[in-house]
Amino acid sequence: MKIAVAKETRDGETRVAMVPELVDKLTGLGYDVAVEPGAGAGALHADEEYAAAGATVEPDALATADVVVSVQPLPVESVRRLRQGAATVSFLPGAQAGEVVTNLRDCGITSYSMELVPRISRAQSMDALSSQALVAGYRSAIVAAGLLRRFFPLNMTAAGTVQPAEVVVLGAGVAGLQAIATAKRLGAVVRAYDVRAAAAEEIRSMGAKSIDLDLETLEGAGGYAREMTEDRAARQRELLTPYIAAADALITTAAVPGRQAPMLVTAAMVEQMKPGSVVVDLAAESGGNVEGSVAGEVVRIGHAQVWGGSNVPSQMPGPASRLYAQNVVNLVTLMTATGDGTGPGTFAPDPEDEIVASSCVTRDGAIVHEPTRTALE
Ligand code: NAD
Repeated sequence: MKIAVAKETRDGETRVAMVPELVDKLTGLGYDVAVEPGAGAGALHADEEYAAAGATVEPDALATADVVVSVQPLPVESVRRLRQGAATVSFLPGAQAGEVVTNLRDCGITSYSMELVPRISRAQSMDALSSQALVAGYRSAIVAAGLLRRFFPLNMTAAGTVQPAEVVVLGAGVAGLQAIATAKRLGAVVRAYDVRAAAAEEIRSMGAKSIDLDLETLEGAGGYAREMTEDRAARQRELLTPYIAAADALITTAAVPGRQAPMLVTAAMVEQMKPGSVVVDLAAESGGNVEGSVAGEVVRIGHAQVWGGSNVPSQMPGPASRLYAQNVVNLVTLMTATGDGTGPGTFAPDPEDEIVASSCVTRDGAIVHEPTRTALE
């Protein structure tokens, strides 16, 4: 059976779903691996590297594949070129990718969404949301350090002592904790806040100070945050204002599944920050945690430079692709039947398996992910 690696087409997407280093994991399962020409170029992997790793480079790889792996959902034109009964594995944000999903349905494609892989222990190695959030979180701290025209660490020198930068991180999930860890490694003094009760201990375990606002915590289903009421949001903003005013750099990473990112910081709060201060809003693309941030741009609000994240993992395409490709290999391995182990494996996902069932969006000409089906049909 053939697995094809798609060349990404979305503007700004530099990642690739399979890296040469991991091709042998797929060939080892018994698959032929075909790569669209230039698929790895954005992540600095030449076609020759894939060929040397045992893949073929084929302009028409998608049309003859049993499984197509990509980072972004395939564009509609590509979906229409797939063989009926083929499968796709990619990020596929349900109803938000409406036209792609209905085409996958109508073309008889079985599609699996990396966003829908359940966050259970057994699926941790397939969790691409976490692997990409890790990259984005690291990058957010590096961007803040790069934009800030001062040291992150304390410097005690013969010419005097330079105080460390004060960094505030809002949202301490996967990305936020990585931002905290990175800012700490660079020597900043870090304070962080998250609405989930469990986050305070995680913040402290990274060596940062947990900001206690004395507000009710907001745990939702599956260990995620719940949406705030407007009253609580206003109170949270009021209580966070002095911390933000005192910060040299503010990094925001807050998200609530299935909703717009919560607006945590008003422009008026940013205007209280010091000259030279920096704001990095990782949530800029999904509505923004900071009022006035613009995805993919640096804007000035008051004295602060406000950097809005736009497909941030694509800014580190090598490691982001490596991690994503490992997530894909692990998911494909789960979906491969090896029989008695003597012959090549076949792509045969067990629909009863929780990971397979949860991540499947379309199958047999139907949308099987209930929230997506309800939204689109
Ligand atoms: P996410 O991207 O949905 O949200 C990022 C963070 O924003 C979360 O920590 C959330 O609590 C926080 N947040 C939401 N509203 C906020 C507000 N108003 N103010 C401040 N912070 C706010 O979440 P994520 O990073 O993908 O994951 C969150 C948690 O899920 C993790 O910390 C972990 O506990 C759990 N998780 C479990 C697994 C697993 O078991 N396999 C994997 C990944 C994450």
